[in-house]
Amino acid sequence: MALMGQMMSAPLLISSIIRHAARYYGSTEIVSRRTEGDLHRYTYRDCELRARKLAQALTALGVQQGERVGTLAWNGYRHLEIYYGVSGMGAVCHTVNPRLFPEQIAYIVNHAEDGYVFFDLTFLPLVEGVAPHCPNVKGWVLMSDRAHMPAESKAKLLCYEDLIDAQDGDYAWPQFDEHQASSLCYTSGTTGNPKGALYSHRSTVLHSYASALPDALGCSARDVILPVVPMFHVNAWGLPYSVPLVGAKLVFPGPKLDGASLYELFEQEKVTFSAGVPTVWLGLLQHVQGNNLKFSTFHRTVIGGSAAPPAMIRALEALDVEVIHAWGMTEMSPLGTTCKLLAKHEALSDADRHKILEKQGRVIYGVDMKIVDGDGNEMPWDGKAFGDLMVRGPWVIDRYYRSDANPLVDGWFPTGDVATIDEDGYMQITDRSKDVIKSGGEWISSIDIENVAAAHPAVHMAACISVYHRKWDERPLLVVVKKPNAEVSKEELLKFFEGKVAKWWIPDDVAFVAEIPLTATGKMQKLKLREQFKDYRLPAA
Ligand code: ADP
Repeated sequence: MALMGQMMSAPLLISSIIRHAARYYGSTEIVSRRTEGDLHRYTYRDCELRARKLAQALTALGVQQGERVGTLAWNGYRHLEIYYGVSGMGAVCHTVNPRLFPEQIAYIVNHAEDGYVFFDLTFLPLVEGVAPHCPNVKGWVLMSDRAHMPAESKAKLLCYEDLIDAQDGDYAWPQFDEHQASSLCYTSGTTGNPKGALYSHRSTVLHSYASALPDALGCSARDVILPVVPMFHVNAWGLPYSVPLVGAKLVFPGPKLDGASLYELFEQEKVTFSAGVPTVWLGLLQHVQGNNLKFSTFHRTVIGGSAAPPAMIRALEALDVEVIHAWGMTEMSPLGTTCKLLAKHEALSDADRHKILEKQGRVIYGVDMKIVDGDGNEMPWDGKAFGDLMVRGPWVIDRYYRSDANPLVDGWFPTGDVATIDEDGYMQITDRSKDVIKSGGEWISSIDIENVAAAHPAVHMAACISVYHRKWDERPLLVVVKKPNAEVSKEELLKFFEGKVAKWWIPDDVAFVAEIPLTATGKMQKLKLREQFKDYRLPAA
């Protein structure tokens, strides 16, 4: 008979994270730029007390365990209180991306059956428009005080600060099964309707532990951490959990995500570590380089969500900021891999180190990955063979919310990404399978092409998409936004590719545009670009 271990059985609950932060890092600060316009400061102790009051208020409103509570909000302390108050009481914190179209927001709120929705002042007009299409929402809670409440509204409004003020905080976090649902995020649904990933307390706590590890995000109590990645984009990559878990100071930028505002906050609050998608860093870099500035304390950042162009990694390094390239997805809570060097890489030349650092990296313990061919056979880890990337692990999705279809293949989740894995386990994404360019049956990596283009000094942003070609079926077209006041011709840009990629990978043409459409999470929207250029005739075609 098996001999069972004799240790305490404590469920891994999200409430334990904020309780820990309040008890052991009670005086550590949380600083937020508010939608009201000012800067707000308080501590983990204050945050936990208000999260308890919120849980009391929700209980008083009749919110049940398992009930979904939505948010339409920026990164800020009230949003953090909702993360903990809602999940802590056993309800489900459902972060909705306010940058989606109102119809998509209504669809998601209705699909999730949110009982209440909390929203920031900025989104009042949005809520007014969406509320009539969400008949099951019992109340829309404006995350501000009485003074900011509108005199009248089409939506059934409640005031956040009134809800908190009515409670005394005499509330003990309930204990329950760690497999209970804690939070819900929908994928942006570039094709078809968005799909929900329903996280559990257990998956979230495990993901928080793992993501804080030194070779993952490497967070510590000595850090000051500013998540630029929104709390509505896969829970800001878990930082609202992993930062209190390690007890670091937390800084929230609110709605101001432009380069100048971010720089000011980084300097003023002595931020050491941050995280965001590449397009955010473009804005910050432009501001810092354009004004000849330096960072005094900011020395490390995670970049993920889409491929970090090598030129961006170099530019940040020149400012003494280490870049940790990371890969993940909504279905993975989101972290899968992070790119850090191994001990044996220390002697490598700068160029060789960078070749590694540009990859998406190695798995964090908990995640397992493989690449497979079209028949599902595992492919070699030689850094050359590319195949469909599959993952599994305790914070990887098993099933989409309210869907009966099984998304797994033999127990593995197909990510939809195409990748290589090298001998040391470093994974590199070649493309999303739907973005791959198939020229005469051979694949061209759009990410590789974009990375080369992004290194040209005149290029602000570049997307590579496939367009129809009579002979080759598909050929690459490079769509480029130039830097302000910079000039480059199509011929010069195409010449820039020579020697950097195989000759037949060089795009057939360049289209200069004023802007590239971005998705609600700040990624280049290639689907829309492909539509925009669907009748494009290549010069030689
Ligand atoms: P959505 O799929 O709705 O855009 P996600 O944020 O879940 O939202 O996107 C996950 C996808 O983003 C991944 O499957 C991958 O294609 C892409 N991605 C994430 N990080 C990286 C990265 N570092 N490099 C390249 N692609 C990335």
